[in-house]
Amino acid sequence: MTDTTLHKSLNGVGIGRGLAVGPVVRMPDPLPEPSDAASTLAADAEKVRAAGALAAAAADIRLRGEKAGGSAKEVLDAQAIMAEDPTLKDDVNARIDTGRTAERAVFEAFAQFRDLLVSMGGYMGERATDLDDVSRRVVAHLRGVPAPGVPDPDHPFVLVARDLAPADTALLDLDKVLALITSDGGPTSHTAILAREKSIVAVVGAAGALSLEDGDTVIVDASSGIVTLDPTEAEVSAAEATLAARASAPEVAIGPGRLADGTAVPLLANLGAVDKLTEAVEKGAEGVGLFRTEFLFLDSDRAPSVEEQQAKYIALLSAFPGKKVVVRALDAGADKPLSFLNDEPEENPALGLRGLRALRAHESILRDQLTALANAEKVTEAEVWVMAPMVSTVEETRYFVSLAKELGLTTAGVMVEVPASALLADRILADADFASIGTNDLTQYTLAADRLLGSVASFQDPWHPAVLRLVGEVGRAGASLGKPVGICGEAAADPMLAVVLVGLGATSLSMSPAALGDVRAELARFTRKQAIEFAELALSANSAVEARAAVFAAATPITTPTESEKLK
Ligand code: PEP
Ligand code: MG
Repeated sequence: MTDTTLHKSLNGVGIGRGLAVGPVVRMPDPLPEPSDAASTLAADAEKVRAAGALAAAAADIRLRGEKAGGSAKEVLDAQAIMAEDPTLKDDVNARIDTGRTAERAVFEAFAQFRDLLVSMGGYMGERATDLDDVSRRVVAHLRGVPAPGVPDPDHPFVLVARDLAPADTALLDLDKVLALITSDGGPTSHTAILAREKSIVAVVGAAGALSLEDGDTVIVDASSGIVTLDPTEAEVSAAEATLAARASAPEVAIGPGRLADGTAVPLLANLGAVDKLTEAVEKGAEGVGLFRTEFLFLDSDRAPSVEEQQAKYIALLSAFPGKKVVVRALDAGADKPLSFLNDEPEENPALGLRGLRALRAHESILRDQLTALANAEKVTEAEVWVMAPMVSTVEETRYFVSLAKELGLTTAGVMVEVPASALLADRILADADFASIGTNDLTQYTLAADRLLGSVASFQDPWHPAVLRLVGEVGRAGASLGKPVGICGEAAADPMLAVVLVGLGATSLSMSPAALGDVRAELARFTRKQAIEFAELALSANSAVEARAAVFAAATPITTPTESEKLK
């Protein structure tokens, strides 16, 4: 351990309530670009180094493919073939003959081939990122440093990273990853969302995490957000005792979400994969409030066909007969790029062609998705609602709602994730059948704080009164037009904030299934009148910290409504 010996613990934002103890394995840092200084070795020696690294990278990649099996094996075998490509090798050697180091020659040869593929576009263009990955692996071999990507040691470990790409998080081997610690990323980053969904014990935004080293032992306590470094035996035993006590704590009875006065607040599930359906049903989800379809296709290099999508949607809808299932059209871009929708590099992808904007630029993909959904609805009994991500204008609302209806869907709405949509919610809801507030992006855009950046994670707080005021605008518009307003951002999974959101006019709450029990229990403690009072307290605060403190102070101790309150 380096300078962390001085600090016994790190603090971050805990995801879930889990606890884990284990050895750290660091996610390798991205490799810097190899220098273009002339080589000090003879060209033949550089060529031997290059050939050895290309062969070793190919062998590694094949081995990973063998272990992964299935479609991952096909992808990895194709990458190994790239590393063995004789034309590329000739190009590397030719560059070495001009005085380049093996590292620089590999970097340049792969980059040139990459640019060629990109200029060809289509399927070939989509292979470009694979080529980058192979190039980085070959350069890592030459430098004798670990290959980029999630490490794969042969023992369980606590993964420590700056942050993870959604594809890395989605592919984590859950038998081996005991917990996840990131230095960047706030509670609403996709790493946090996927960790919650996969029930991975995680602490995100833990400043100082990058000073941990491979082999350091840590206790990761997600419920407090504390990572204990180099724990004593007594600390490890205490952690294990806590774990056992939590496991035996009685569960809150499962039933529909309601306030103490009986006001119904349906509790729905946020899902990104069909393998979580059973858990959602078991935890009492009353339907699905957000199905993130893009997660089904993150590692796909071409747009999914109508048939492929239909099969997945049928599996989803069949788990909720007679229940509402809100499916979101592909939300590609920024931190969740889909190669078949986001084909142009952008300076500021969060402000670029993402969400509905990207779909509109590829309307046939949107049409296929809506068609697949309408077909799936016909053969199942769920009530399908469809919504568009990242809607910022009334015109976009009209475009999406009319296209969805043209293609056979009956209920079409929009996500409110951009302040403009919240401010014009009355006009947007005049055209949309419902609104669903994505508090993760709404907070990011209201506070101008990248949801993936640890250094601004403290701004990314949905308790901020500016965010709550926008939520209130949408709630008011929904109430006056008689249109439902759901919340599907991570804010709905924060039990006390969930009560405040209901006070601001939310009519349903959608969250990771893991959070349903705690939110159900918290809602049951308060009446609608109290929820409105808490909302007013939060709105009149000057900051997220003050809002939270004011509501917590007013909310304790646990109150039981009087008979007269129940009638209000
Ligand atoms: C949100 O932005 O709050 C949301 C639910 O969408 P995502 O987190 O997938 O961007
Ligand atoms: Mg969003």
